[in-house]
Amino acid sequence: MTDQRLTARTAPTQPATAIDVAGETVGGAAFTVIAGPCSVEGREMLMRSAASVRASGARLLRGGAFKPRTSPYAFRGLGQAALDLLAEAREASGLPIVTELMDARDLDAVAAVADVIQIGARNMQNFSLLAAVGERRTPVLLKRGLSATVNELLLAAEHIMAHGNFEVILCERGIRTFETSTRNTLDIAAIPVLKQETHLPVIVDPSHAAGRSDLVPALAAAAVAVGADGLIVEVHPDPSTALSDGAQSLTLEGFAAMMRALAPIAATCGRRLDLPVDAPSDVSLGVATHSALRVCA
Ligand code: PEP
Ligand code: MN
Repeated sequence: MTDQRLTARTAPTQPATAIDVAGETVGGAAFTVIAGPCSVEGREMLMRSAASVRASGARLLRGGAFKPRTSPYAFRGLGQAALDLLAEAREASGLPIVTELMDARDLDAVAAVADVIQIGARNMQNFSLLAAVGERRTPVLLKRGLSATVNELLLAAEHIMAHGNFEVILCERGIRTFETSTRNTLDIAAIPVLKQETHLPVIVDPSHAAGRSDLVPALAAAAVAVGADGLIVEVHPDPSTALSDGAQSLTLEGFAAMMRALAPIAATCGRRLDLPVDAPSDVSLGVATHSALRVCA
C-alpha cells in the first residue's frame, strides 16, 4: 500500500473528500445520482431523458459521445455531434454533464462540455489517458476495469492524482466472474473496502454490473446500504430501441420509481437523497424489484 501516496485514507478519522462538480457535490453527506442514456442517440431522446431524470432527482446527466464497443460494427457514438447535444442538454436542464473520453486527442473537445470526464472500464489502465486527464482540473470518474483488483483501481487513480488532478471519483461497475446470470458481478464488498482505504468518493454503476434492468434497483439499494456516495444509472425513453445497452436501461418511469424507493433507504443510512418536491410518485416497481426493496426499506 506504500504506493498509495495520494489516494490513501491515512487515518480512520481523515475526512472523506467531497468533490464539487459545477455546484453539485459527490461525496460528503449527499447521495448523488447520475443518470442518462448509455449513448447520446439524438436531440429528442437526450432532452427528454435530461428533463425526466432531473425531475426524478438525478443531479448529473450522463451520456456517451464516444462509445467503447466490443464489436467494431456496433454503434460507436455520435462523437462531436453528441458533445454539442450534451452542451444543449446542460443548458436546458441545468444538469452537469458526465461523458466518456476514450482518446487523448479528443480531450479538448470533451473537456469543453464535460463537468466530469469518464474514464471507462476498458481504459482504467490506459496510463497515457490517465496522465492526460491528470494534467487537467476537470473531475474524473474512473471506472474499475473488467478484471482489475481494488488495488489496481486505486493505483490507476494514483496515476491521475500524481499528475496534479485530485478530483477523482471511483466507480465500481461489476467485474468478470464465472457467473452468467448477470453481465458482470457487482463486487459489493469493494465499496466498504474502498471507503476504508481511500478518502476518494466511491459510486456504483448497477446498470453495467447487472446487464439487465430488472436487477438495477436492487443493486442500487445495496449500494446505498454499503455506503456508496452515489450511483451512475442508465436510462432510456424507449430501451427496446436503444442503440447501446438497452437491456440494462431503465425506462424514465422505472428510474422515477427507483428513486422514490431509494430515498427512505438513503435516509435510514444517514445519507441525503433529496427528491424534487414534485418528483413523480404514482410510479410502481416491477415485482422482483419491489420485493428486494421492501426488504431494505
Ligand atoms: C458506459 O458507462 O456506458 C460504459 C461503457 O461503462 P464501462 O466502461 O463501465 O463498461
Ligand atoms: Mn453503457
